[in-house]
Amino acid sequence: MSIRTQSTRDWDVIVIGGGIVGCSAAYYAAKNGMRVLLVERDAPGSAQSGRNLGFVRQQNRDFRELSLMIRALRIWEGIEAELGRSVGWQQGGNLSLAFSEADLVSRRGWQRRAAEEFGLDTRMLSASETHALVPQLASGRGVVGAMYTPTDGKAEPARATRAFLDAALGLGVAVSFGESVSSIDVSAGKVSGIRIGDRFHRAGTVITAAGAGSAALLRKVGLNLPQEFIRATVARTVARPGERIAACISGQQTGIRQDVNGAYVISVAGGEYDLRLDSWRHMRWYEATRKSNPDAARIDYLAPMKRLWPRRTIAPLADFPPSRDHPQPEAFRVEQARREFADLFPVLADLEIETSWAGIIDVMPDIVPVLGGVDGVSGLLVATGFSGHGFGPGPMAGKVLSELAAGRQSPVNISSLSPMRFEKK
Ligand SMILES: Cc1cc2nc3c(=O)[nH]c(=O)nc-3n(C[C@H](O)[C@H](O)[C@H](O)COP(=O)(O)OP(=O)(O)OC[C@H]3O[C@@H](n4cnc5c(N)ncnc54)[C@H](O)[C@@H]3O)c2cc1C
Repeated sequence: MSIRTQSTRDWDVIVIGGGIVGCSAAYYAAKNGMRVLLVERDAPGSAQSGRNLGFVRQQNRDFRELSLMIRALRIWEGIEAELGRSVGWQQGGNLSLAFSEADLVSRRGWQRRAAEEFGLDTRMLSASETHALVPQLASGRGVVGAMYTPTDGKAEPARATRAFLDAALGLGVAVSFGESVSSIDVSAGKVSGIRIGDRFHRAGTVITAAGAGSAALLRKVGLNLPQEFIRATVARTVARPGERIAACISGQQTGIRQDVNGAYVISVAGGEYDLRLDSWRHMRWYEATRKSNPDAARIDYLAPMKRLWPRRTIAPLADFPPSRDHPQPEAFRVEQARREFADLFPVLADLEIETSWAGIIDVMPDIVPVLGGVDGVSGLLVATGFSGHGFGPGPMAGKVLSELAAGRQSPVNISSLSPMRFEKK
């Protein structure tokens, strides 16, 4: 089903992509008094923004994106009042468990720099302090301490994305759902609009927040982003509402969040790197990442052939809308996550896995997002490549884009996130 906007008038801003970044950009731009069209090829929230783990963390971020995330946290703290509904926001902190002296040293290094340069409230916990904070955590499972950021939180991904969309609609944002933007039009170094099939929509500013669909659109206007895709698997247990664990927890491999219903959403870091034609084009950009973190992505050489195999059509039991990609979860990742969850929380080990799904993460070689304008194409703004951690900063990225669209400075320093940084290599 597609929903087309009836109007063909000119827009101040066209936003491509109905994820958390696109929906929040549309909302803030409309709040700035701009006439906005939001275009989403499937349904809003059907890609990463509805499928992620729901961690909203400043902790353990690359320092190049930490300011963006710190400002995002202020939005999250007031999000339910601002958007007028519950998005499952809970400021229960983020806990990154340490299993060795080396883990403690690396976490302490991050914690010190974050405190000194950014004033972040992260602190190190001893093993007994960690257990006091999360009594359900098994003792004797090798946890020697943890890094804890009490101001971090969590939210329900699909609900939060939907809340931004509904707030944007409430401010008069027009939408087009169910059809892809086929191209961005540029003339004389300036954006003129977009095309959806044979229909042209004119705008002075085009925001590309199309997640894994961004690089293909941008290449046509001369910006080559070496963006790659990782298929990450998530599983959810049945609910046990009586037991409450407020903090989001990062174990050795697995992220764990209790959702609003009392179920546990669990996911192993990393995922499958399904080879595509573009993979060869981008290979050189990822050599260093692959060497330093070989477990981050398991290369699936058979992926091009598997795309021709019939798909399993069982829909996951989840609240995000369906997407035409139907990314398939990997059973062995579900089992990996379940095993670590059961090992860390034996009191919850009997909870059955109720459902699982996958999402396509849009990765950049340096694992930090792309955010800002494009040299030589005035009016083109980009926000993509959040590399598996863009749900937390998403609303602030949307706010930054709306300010840039209004011709103002970004409220936070985004110079190291520039889309132009890959032009130099
Ligand atoms: C399994 C998993 C776990 C994650 N866990 C976390 C987490 O705990 N915390 C965190 O902060 N982040 C997490 N992330 C990352 C986070 O979900 C993303 O970084 C974030 O949602 C990106 O938002 P977005 O709006 O940029 O992209 P998306 O949500 O991917 O939205 C982009 C949209 O653009 C649309 N689109 C694409 N091409 C076109 C086109 N040509 N025309 C029109 N529309 C188009 C797509 O259909 C899509 O809906 C996780 C991601 C995954 C997959």
